[in-house]
Amino acid sequence: MSHRWAAPTALADALGVLATDPGARPVAGGTDLVVGSRQGRRPLPDSIVAIDRIPELAGQRADPDGSLVLGALTSHAWLASADAVVSSWTALADAAAIVGSPATRGTGTLGGNIMNASPAAETVGPLIVAGAVATLVSSTAKRQLAVAEVATGPGRTAATAGELLLTEVRVPAPPEGSGSAYVRLEYRAAMEIAVVGATAFVALDGSAGGDGSAARATIREARIALTAVAPTIIRATAAEERLAGRSPDAAAFAAAGQAAAAAASPISDVRASAEYRRAMIEVVVARALSAAARRAAGEDVPVPASRWAHGQEV
Ligand SMILES: Cc1cc2nc3c(=O)[nH]c(=O)nc-3n(C[C@H](O)[C@H](O)[C@H](O)COP(=O)(O)OP(=O)(O)OC[C@H]3O[C@@H](n4cnc5c(N)ncnc54)[C@H](O)[C@@H]3O)c2cc1C
Repeated sequence: MSHRWAAPTALADALGVLATDPGARPVAGGTDLVVGSRQGRRPLPDSIVAIDRIPELAGQRADPDGSLVLGALTSHAWLASADAVVSSWTALADAAAIVGSPATRGTGTLGGNIMNASPAAETVGPLIVAGAVATLVSSTAKRQLAVAEVATGPGRTAATAGELLLTEVRVPAPPEGSGSAYVRLEYRAAMEIAVVGATAFVALDGSAGGDGSAARATIREARIALTAVAPTIIRATAAEERLAGRSPDAAAFAAAGQAAAAAASPISDVRASAEYRRAMIEVVVARALSAAARRAAGEDVPVPASRWAHGQEV
């Protein structure tokens, strides 16, 4: 078997190789593709196109409509510390800040995290609740697809044959009075993946502390995504619907956690039983909602919210 390798420095050249070599696969940071092969999970593809030197996939920009456009090569380290992300898309910073180790965060990319299509991919829940849209390109076409629709199962995406590159992700501006948070259950603080994770987005009307102590505010809209409880990362719509119009208090968050757990069908595996996962969905959903509502109300909940949530009662 012959192995092929290309390291183009222009997007058109990468797309050309991917179009003419049906077995070719892109590699960005290699922290999933290469590490997975070394651990024996799956063999390396026969043909690899390194995309890490392509300027069109790098960088970030703020668009005039307030959305943030992230190049596919954006690293977790950048997402965890960039002022724009921490202030406006805080759940994304929460998620990126707890990926792997400092080395993983410096090398692993946003594009790789999405296209690896893991049900435990950290950044995907925050992107889904933010309504983010990915751009997928082939040598002949370009289309936009909601990040929520990119993964179709573990390791499988909606990208068609030839449509092998995700070039960028557009994250719309969050509405006034909103906040977001990502909380995962983890057995250790580093080199870990989510046993269960929850992302919450909360938009408030009126003014109140997010803990509900001053119950003058009501929840205008809530969005919840669940990580590592289904073949893909999913929205918990029944739980979201329970929150609209309610005060952002512990009782509302607990009820939403119960609704999310009731609607989920987690599996048992080496990391947790289905029963334990279901019980933990309630906990992480309530904690993510609490952190998101506090942020929506202007309180300072430090990044990553996971560490805050597990160290403090909600
Ligand atoms: C020790 C360790 C700890 C980790 N911890 C976490 C964790 O806590 N949370 C978590 O979510 N992940 C974790 N990961 C997984 C991994 O680091 C992330 O998913 C990372 O974002 C992958 O990015 P990458 O650039 O390295 O992907 P790569 O390995 O380069 O690629 C991954 C997949 O995506 C495809 N791909 C990459 N870029 C593109 C693109 N632009 N367009 C189309 N396809 C593309 C590749 O073909 C491949 O199939 C960990 C990995 C390691 C090794």
